[in-house]
Amino acid sequence: MTKNDCIFCKIAEGKLPASKLFEDAHTLAFLDIGPIVKGHTLVIPKRHFDPLTATPPEVLQQLIVTVRRVAEAMTRSLNCDGINVMQSNGLAAGQVVTHIHFHVIPRYATDGHSWNWKAKSYANPGEMQAMAATLTAGFAAPPRIQKSWLP
Ligand code: 5GP
Ligand code: ZN
Repeated sequence: MTKNDCIFCKIAEGKLPASKLFEDAHTLAFLDIGPIVKGHTLVIPKRHFDPLTATPPEVLQQLIVTVRRVAEAMTRSLNCDGINVMQSNGLAAGQVVTHIHFHVIPRYATDGHSWNWKAKSYANPGEMQAMAATLTAGFAAPPRIQKSWLP
């Protein structure tokens, strides 16, 4: 399965250049062209899937194993102090490329990057419980095919 207008499909097919780091039968790892921190790597399935909820569990298993391999290689080769793994779905979440991918980002105590992560709070325990109940109901909801949030 490929999408004609998808840049990551083109990279997977070798039709667009990329700084490839690792590949196996199902997955590919290559450098992000716009690194948050140098060494920032993307891990994709060779077949086109998007978003997370439309990606088969076995493909996700293949992806996370490659993410781990990249993280191990990063630790050995870059001597980084930490690693972020990130995955976005939908414009509201900052997704730009609609072919599922995991960002694997080497982090250093001195890299200067900040996620600007500002923790909020629930107004009271009841509001938090109500949110848990709403989300829990989602587990029982009938499965549906999730279409990409972006064109
Ligand atoms: P998203 O925001 O969709 O999670 O991340 C997409 C990522 O793909 C961005 O970090 C962006 O820098 C990267 N990217 C976009 N186009 C290309 C490309 O043509 N080649 C490579 N190597 N990375 C790309
Ligand atoms: Zn694709």
